[in-house]
Formats: sequence, C-alpha cells, structure tokens
Amino acid sequence: MEKTVQLYEGKAKKVYATDDPNLVIVSYKDDATAFDGAKKGTIRGKGAVNNRMTNFLMRKLEAAGIPTHFVEELNDRETVVKKVQIVPLEVIVRNVSAGHFASRYGVEEGIAFDEPVLEFSYKNDDLHDPLLNTSHALALKLATKEEIATIKSMALKINDILKDFFAQCGVRLIDFKLEFGKTTDGQIVLADEISPDTCRFWDAKTNEKLDKDRFRRDLGNVEEAYEEMMRRVFGE
Ligand code: ADP
Ligand code: UDP
Repeated sequence: MEKTVQLYEGKAKKVYATDDPNLVIVSYKDDATAFDGAKKGTIRGKGAVNNRMTNFLMRKLEAAGIPTHFVEELNDRETVVKKVQIVPLEVIVRNVSAGHFASRYGVEEGIAFDEPVLEFSYKNDDLHDPLLNTSHALALKLATKEEIATIKSMALKINDILKDFFAQCGVRLIDFKLEFGKTTDGQIVLADEISPDTCRFWDAKTNEKLDKDRFRRDLGNVEEAYEEMMRRVFGE
C-alpha cells in the first residue's frame, strides 16, 4: 500500500490518500501541542509510540467486538486505516477527576467516580471545541439519535476493556478522548488514536503521570513517560 496525495495535516498526524478510495494512511508526527494549540513542542519518538500503542489497543478492542478503522500497520509511524467521515464529536470518558473536569467544576484532581462520566465536545477548532450535550449534538445534526446511542454504548464498553487492560499494566486509566467515524457503508467505527496524547495514565502505585500532562505542565521526563507506557503495554 502506497501513499499518494496528502489529504490533511493535523497537529499530531498527517493523512494520505492511497490507490484504494476506501483506505487512507495516517502518519504520526513527533509534534505536540497543548492548550488549544497555544503551546507547541516536539516529543522525540512520540509518533512511533502513539502509532504502535494505538494499533495494539485497536486490535485488542476489535477482538472484544468493537469495530475500528484499523487495517494494517505499515511501519513505526504509518498505518493503513479505513477512510471514514469523522463524527465531529470528541467523546471523553472519565473515571477520575482531572484536567478540565477538575478546573470547570472546582474540584481537586484524583477523585475516583462511582460511575464513568461521559462527555462530548464539538470538534471544531474555530469554536475551541465547546462542551455540548446530546440534545445540542442532535440540534446541530452532528449525528443521528441512533448513532449517538451507538457511540455512547461503544465508548463505555471501550472504557471497561481499557481500564481492565491498563490495570494489568500497573496503570490507572484516568480519562481519555475517542473519535468515531462513519465508513462508506454507514457503519460507526472507532477512529483516530488511543495514546498518551489522548489519555491520562497514572502509575497505579505512585500516581506518577505517564502521559501528555508531563508536556502540558512542564513536569520533565516527557519522552521517558511515553517510553515507560510502551514498556508497560508491550511488556518489554
Ligand atoms: P487534529 O485534526 O485535531 O489536529 P490530528 O493531527 O490527529 O488531529 O489529525 C488527524 C486527523 O485525521 C483528525 O482530524 C482525525 O479526526 C482524522 N482521522 C482520524 N482517523 C481517520 C480516518 N479513519 N479517516 C479519516 N480521517 C481520520
Ligand atoms: N483530550 C484530547 N484531545 C482534546 C481534549 C482532550 O485527547 O482535544 C483528552 C485529554 O488528553 C484527556 C481527556 O481527553 O485525557 C480529558 O481532557 P480534558 O477535558 O480534561 O481537557 P485537557 O485538560 O486535556 O485540555
């Protein structure tokens, strides 16, 4: 499978067309941004970590019955995926208070919830990804009622699977962001990535942060945290 033209360059990945109109190649970059693009930097080796970890987790989710866009890993940074129309919702699942949940509602980080919190943001950079609820999403026709129900139930099932898996790696899955897409035949599938860029991971014993918060908050040892997550996941 060969790349043809570049279709899109985002903050963390590039997307290329292929000879097959139903397939695209995503290429993961080392570029990192935070705070709505205001903070920019490079995390050496991040592209390879995020590509390999995403593919590993997508395979695991597929095996558990979750349809995903994953097709084939080409090399360290590049993967063939089904081309989808991205549903413009950032689907956030939270098990423990952190980040915007803590700042928005004025609570400390680290409070474990009895039930997972499911949250949507409107994926729209110009509007700075505002928080919205299901009725807002329906009013804006971002997805149908059935699609939103499917997305919610898939997101909660993904949370159960990932929480258990990361617990076995000695990692608490605090929160994460998912994106879903619609294939040409109308199926809703998990798309985009699942990585230390899009999840909060805390060491189960020490609560040390092993994710992009090390970059966002200038905590140091950023590359080391990504590498440590690779070792935990692949057991290397
Ligand atoms: P951003 O657009 O937020 O800067 P990225 O740099 O990660 O994000 O760019 C990757 C883009 O590709 C995102 O807009 C994402 O929604 C989109 N994308 C992810 N998976 C697929 C897919 N299977 N088909 C088409 N687009 C996808
Ligand atoms: N997240 C993401 N992309 C975004 C916003 C959030 O991947 O554009 C992830 C983030 O890494 C965290 C979770 O979603 O794991 C919840 O993020 P939050 O709303 O707390 O916002 P943040 O503090 O990350 O801006």
